[in-house]
Amino acid sequence: MPNETLNGIVLRTTDYRESDRILNVLTKERGLVTVSARGCRRPNSRTAAFSSQFCYGEMVTHERDGKLILSAASVLESFYSIRESYEQLISATRIVMLAERVASRDISNDQFFLLVYHGLSFIAYGRNDPRDIELCFIAKLLSIMGYTPILASCVQCGRSVRGQRMIRFSKTHGGSLCDNCTGASHTVSALSLEAFRRMMRLDSRDMGKVVLPDNVRAELDRLLYDYAGFVFEYPIKR
Ligand SMILES: [Zn+2]
Repeated sequence: MPNETLNGIVLRTTDYRESDRILNVLTKERGLVTVSARGCRRPNSRTAAFSSQFCYGEMVTHERDGKLILSAASVLESFYSIRESYEQLISATRIVMLAERVASRDISNDQFFLLVYHGLSFIAYGRNDPRDIELCFIAKLLSIMGYTPILASCVQCGRSVRGQRMIRFSKTHGGSLCDNCTGASHTVSALSLEAFRRMMRLDSRDMGKVVLPDNVRAELDRLLYDYAGFVFEYPIKR
């Protein structure tokens, strides 16, 4: 089979045999792919540098028996500084786990790829709280995947919910509810919903601008993970 060049971010690695590793890689060209990196754990392996979690690079692959094999790879960005703090590592790990859950095999999605790339970049090099990048990532992920919730009016009856300080939200209906309608899973401040709305609209290159007040961060942490967990069928233990 001919060689194929793919640009990708390593979302997860699994060691097998003595010196091999399976890489789950989100690629620009083909969405999620699984690649065998044979011998990459040997000290002098040419694919060792690329074959670790969060690494972004260019891979040359070939297919054998229906499986993708890594022939060569060059690192474009290792995002090494993610490993310098526990908070950065936790947020980055949550981003790649959710990305792997949501990614489609053999379907490329440029917006989604850039979101993962920028999410990791801002966690590695940004100055804001990694948890804010993580929450912005989830808000934008919901929007990119077609789960933008209805927030300005009641998702059931259409009545405006503007002007209310606290707003009820339903993850099953995908939006806010007025006081007359039932089925709310959360009650959050209008301020938090406004932050949610703004994060969804933000260009992923501007994620570094997100600075959430503590109470908004705490509310959105519950709301976004619960809503994303529901729509992506991804229960997250926190
Ligand atoms: Zn209503």
